[in-house]
Amino acid sequence: MRTSETSDMDSFAGVREQPIGSDAVPLSSVRHAVRRFRSAQRSVTALNDVSIDVFEGECVALIGGSGSGKSTLGGIMLGLDHVEEGSVEYRSMPVCGIRSAGYQALRKESGLVLQNPFDSLNPRWMVERIVREPLDIQDRSLSRDERTSRVCDAIRSVGLDPAEFVDRYPMDLSGGQAQRIAIARAIVNIPTLLVADEPMSAIDVNARVTILDTFASIRRRHPSMAMLFISHDLGVVQHIADRIVVLHDGEVCESGDAQRILNHPGSSYTKALIAAASWQKS
Ligand code: ADP
Ligand code: MG
Repeated sequence: MRTSETSDMDSFAGVREQPIGSDAVPLSSVRHAVRRFRSAQRSVTALNDVSIDVFEGECVALIGGSGSGKSTLGGIMLGLDHVEEGSVEYRSMPVCGIRSAGYQALRKESGLVLQNPFDSLNPRWMVERIVREPLDIQDRSLSRDERTSRVCDAIRSVGLDPAEFVDRYPMDLSGGQAQRIAIARAIVNIPTLLVADEPMSAIDVNARVTILDTFASIRRRHPSMAMLFISHDLGVVQHIADRIVVLHDGEVCESGDAQRILNHPGSSYTKALIAAASWQKS
């Protein structure tokens, strides 16, 4: 029978080897997750017995090739998809269905940045309304002026000038600017858990460094915010991740301290990912 935190599996799963304190409780915890997708033609096991913890204030990079299960795991962690076996908890509360306590807390306390920024930007709205909408939905206690000030703060914290951007439409933004506005929207609530799913993959190469700098600066501004940073490219995460979890064919093949994995990869799959990384280690 499988138990939770103390199972043998945890020493090589995506679970922190040395908790930050004896009383450290993960903010988000996925245990022994199994998720399959079935169609008339085929059945795919997207996740097979995957365990991962994310603690407050840390950035965990979830790395793996296309189809390895990264987006599925990110969605499951946020309660946007379900597990068939295993469990998902947020702040030690179950995340299973929209009525669950964990899901309700996640709706208020999480943010999601997608690969294609235009997927989260309503083309008919100006930037001010796009960034403000999560506050309108979730934080009715704020006055209109307070909301406007929070919107401007969020736009400034992604390195853009609110005066220049609030009345633009998405079509007037470059890909890099649109992604920064999508990040501003995701952080306007100051989430406790931010999931970014390949946030740089659809952005042209020149703007990628700016996007990465934006995430690094958000971490400095909000040190208790936890991040799950999903990427197929190990080179991208080396400057931002505290921990790396490598997924391969729906299973955790390696996890641990980011510098240790980059300097001493344990699996041949991770070695191949490092060799393929777009940015050389420095
Ligand atoms: P990644 O984000 O690492 O590229 P995904 O989590 O998107 O991988 O997908 C993992 C596997 O699950 C892939 O084989 C993918 O085709 C399959 N998959 C993901 N979502 C669905 C879905 N909604 N329906 C059918 N298959 C899916
Ligand atoms: Mg994906």
